[in-house]
Amino acid sequence: MPEQATTTSPPTSSLLERLPGVAAWTLEVDSTEHLTPSMCRVRLRGEGLASLHYESGQDVMVNVPTDTDQNFRRRYSIRYLDPTEEVLTLDICLHGDGPGARWAAGAVPGSTVEIIGPRGKVTLDPDADWHIFAGDEAALPAFSSMLEALAPGARAIALFEVGGADEVVEVAVPDGADVTIEWLGREGAEPGRPELLTGALEAVPLPDGRGHAYLSAELRVTSALRAVLLGRGLGPGQLSPKPYWRRGVANAAHGEPPKD
Ligand SMILES: Cc1cc2nc3c(=O)[nH]c(=O)nc-3n(C[C@H](O)[C@H](O)[C@H](O)COP(=O)(O)OP(=O)(O)OC[C@H]3O[C@@H](n4cnc5c(N)ncnc54)[C@H](O)[C@@H]3O)c2cc1C
Repeated sequence: MPEQATTTSPPTSSLLERLPGVAAWTLEVDSTEHLTPSMCRVRLRGEGLASLHYESGQDVMVNVPTDTDQNFRRRYSIRYLDPTEEVLTLDICLHGDGPGARWAAGAVPGSTVEIIGPRGKVTLDPDADWHIFAGDEAALPAFSSMLEALAPGARAIALFEVGGADEVVEVAVPDGADVTIEWLGREGAEPGRPELLTGALEAVPLPDGRGHAYLSAELRVTSALRAVLLGRGLGPGQLSPKPYWRRGVANAAHGEPPKD
């Protein structure tokens, strides 16, 4: 069993006081579907969602219901928001044993869930000549949304680690954008190990000009990716590392992996 956070999530009212510009919504599960064997798409519907303004790369904090009296806050990237239909789409990894993954796997249409958003500071760097994305399947929703928001003429490289060929998802790259996506299949290896992504990041040719890198995966993998790019001459200001989960340890009450 993974080590489970014992800290109780703070109440919504105190979170909203601390987070200016962030609001809460109670949403109804509209539908769920398997995008891939281990990725579940959850569509949530709710009045007022049109006022959730966000940038690609941002996320919401979901107050994940459980069948006990404990709830857990988990963060999921905004894959799409349809302000007309007031439908929010989240893509959630069914990685195994965690309240978030269990909720997504069993979410029943008509059931309700509270979300808080928008959260997150990692969005496209408007001054970058090119962008590089490196991450695992938990980062796919954020990075797909960011790739889809690129301006025509933008240049980007994406290195995505997934379980295997059946976990590849469609990314609707805008016409005119120069985007290369490399899919790295674990093919039976455990998730949360650095080798695949660091190897690919060491080898990939970096374009000329000023680049910006977005790095999200398991905690230690994210640090290893940052080290690779510092070693290749990128400065800290060109890097947006954001760990999404931690091997063998549940995310903390604020939805992020604990650092020690
Ligand atoms: C800003 C942000 C945005 C995120 N966006 C997304 C998103 O769009 N989609 C998404 O699926 N995830 C996303 N994540 C990651 C997600 O919040 C974590 O994976 C979270 O730990 C899942 O909660 P859980 O309750 O299922 O598992 P937890 O209770 O946190 O962990 C239980 C066990 O599962 C393991 N575990 C957790 N996540 C994974 C994983 N991805 N692969 C393998 N093992 C894992 C842990 O190591 C632990 O052993 C995001 C995280 C952050 C910080």
